Amino acid sequence: MFIGHYGPAFGAKAALRRVPLWVYFIAVQWLDVIWSSLVLLGIEKVRIVPGFTEGSALDLYFMPYTHGLIGALILSALFGGIIAIFFRAQRTAVFFVVAAAVFSHWILDLVVHMPDLWIWGDLKVGFGLWRWLWISLPLELLSLFLGAWFYARYVPARGRGNLWLWLFVAAMAGVELYGVFGPTPASPQAEAQTALMAYGALAFLAGLTDLSRAKPAL
Ligand SMILES: [Zn+2]
Repeated sequence: MFIGHYGPAFGAKAALRRVPLWVYFIAVQWLDVIWSSLVLLGIEKVRIVPGFTEGSALDLYFMPYTHGLIGALILSALFGGIIAIFFRAQRTAVFFVVAAAVFSHWILDLVVHMPDLWIWGDLKVGFGLWRWLWISLPLELLSLFLGAWFYARYVPARGRGNLWLWLFVAAMAGVELYGVFGPTPASPQAEAQTALMAYGALAFLAGLTDLSRAKPAL
C-alpha cells in the first residue's frame, strides 16, 4: 500500500484541523520513513522479486522493528508524542490523533501485504490482497478519495482550494499507477531512496494544499 495511506492523513486533518496536513502526511508514512532508513542502513531487509504479488514486487522478509506490531505501536506513540510537544492546547487530542494516523499505516498494510508483519515468535500476518491487483488498486484509490472527500467537506477551501486539492489527488493517483505499472525498482536501496523522496515531496505539496484552506480557529 502506498497512496492509500494518505486517505487517513486527509481524514485526520478533517477530524483535528489544528495539526497541519503535511504533518499528517509524514505521520501516515512514518513507519515506512523509518523502514526506508533501516533498509539503507542494511538493518531491515527486502528482496526485489518481479511478480512477487500483482500489486508489489517487494518481498519484505525482514522488517520486525518498523512493521512488527510492537514496533509499530512504539513508533506511533513516539511520533504522536513528538508532535504533541509543539501543541499546548488540545495536547492529548493531538497525541492520539497523530499516533492513530501513524498506526493506520499498519492496519492498511495488514490488508494488502503478504504475511510479513511480525506479531510474536514465528507468527507473521498479512491478508495478502496485493495478490489481486483488481482488488488492491481500487481499494488504495478508494481510501485516498474517501479521505480527500472528508478533507474537502470539513476543511473549508479558500478561492480555488478545491480545484488544487483534486488536482493534487489526481496526481497522487498517477504516482500510484506509475508505481504499479512502471518499472520495478532496481534495488532495495533505490526503492528506499525513491520512497523517501516521494514522502518528502508529497508532504511538501500537502503543505501547499493547506495554504488554500481557511485557518482553523486556534
Ligand atoms: Zn509499510
